[in-house]
Amino acid sequence: MKTLIYDVRELNDDNLKKIDEAAIILRNGGVVAFPTETVYGLGADALNHKAVSKIYEAKGRPSDNPLIVHISDLEQCYSLTDGFNETIEKLAQHFWPGPLTIIVPKSNKVPDITTGGLDTVAIRMPDHPVALELIRRAGCPVAAPSANISGKPSPTKGEHVVEDMFGRIDAIITSGDCKVGIESTILDLSEDVPTILRPGILTPEELSKVMGKEVIIDPAINKIRDKDFVPKSPGMKYTHYAPNAEMIIFQGEKEKVITEIERVKEQKEKEGYKVGIMLYDDQSYLEAAHELFAQLREFDKQNVDLILAGALNSDDSIGFAVMNRMLKSAGYIVVKV
Ligand code: AMP
Ligand code: MG
Repeated sequence: MKTLIYDVRELNDDNLKKIDEAAIILRNGGVVAFPTETVYGLGADALNHKAVSKIYEAKGRPSDNPLIVHISDLEQCYSLTDGFNETIEKLAQHFWPGPLTIIVPKSNKVPDITTGGLDTVAIRMPDHPVALELIRRAGCPVAAPSANISGKPSPTKGEHVVEDMFGRIDAIITSGDCKVGIESTILDLSEDVPTILRPGILTPEELSKVMGKEVIIDPAINKIRDKDFVPKSPGMKYTHYAPNAEMIIFQGEKEKVITEIERVKEQKEKEGYKVGIMLYDDQSYLEAAHELFAQLREFDKQNVDLILAGALNSDDSIGFAVMNRMLKSAGYIVVKV
């Protein structure tokens, strides 16, 4: 398949023409990758069964793993859910456009393929001028998972999307680095107690304050999994963000972690391994969020065989969210030191 590439950095007249062309592709049932503030998305008309099926095909994504529907205007929510209420409106006013996805009961306009057969739908308004302009011009809600091949680290730079998706989809809009670098916080509003199913840079405290009620974190998040694990969010059960290299996370006192990583590195290098190290400063977890996926992809490019990573402090909400991705990347291999 021929893939058009549109590079769009600012919304000048030339670039708006490019966005218009991409919007027409979406409207006609095609697949277009686009930037958001979290990671790049792989978009198609969320209400068009055939268009959405192309997303699953391009990513190699299991069909029971639902997609997030991206909107540019709160009014689009009315047709996606039968359960629109004050809480949604409050959250939207505070956090949209932004890295918050809400799960609400779906309306019958939303095809089953978009929600992986669930009776709820995930909705978000991304905080990126290109994404908002594209959705607005397409005139339809846009279903978009991360624009990577299923199982690989999410794309946070235009070149990541080109690596994974060139030749597989109709068009890619590149627009530099994604500001946040990890995916949105997913908040399930479909049950009595609002529950975070995927941590992100928006914290439970911030959400709770706006909603005026308690928000809990799904206890399954960041737990080491066994074979009986039953996830609330289908995405929780699949391999995610896996680099080609084997990855081990070391957890414990900082000094000890560093000493152990150096010891293992030396030993493995003697055995002929190419070793990559991942250590983030406790004071800069936002930076860790921004860097993580790009760093994992960089290790792949350098043919690293083994990644040795220091655990982040999970008492910090952003540390917890980044650790969530690191644990998945490492297949939950954690060594306590
Ligand atoms: P991605 O688009 O790659 O960021 O993945 C979207 C995530 O949202 C996946 O982990 C999905 O399982 C989750 N998700 C989407 N829709 C729903 C839903 N209706 N209920 C629970 N989780 C959902
Ligand atoms: Mg993804």
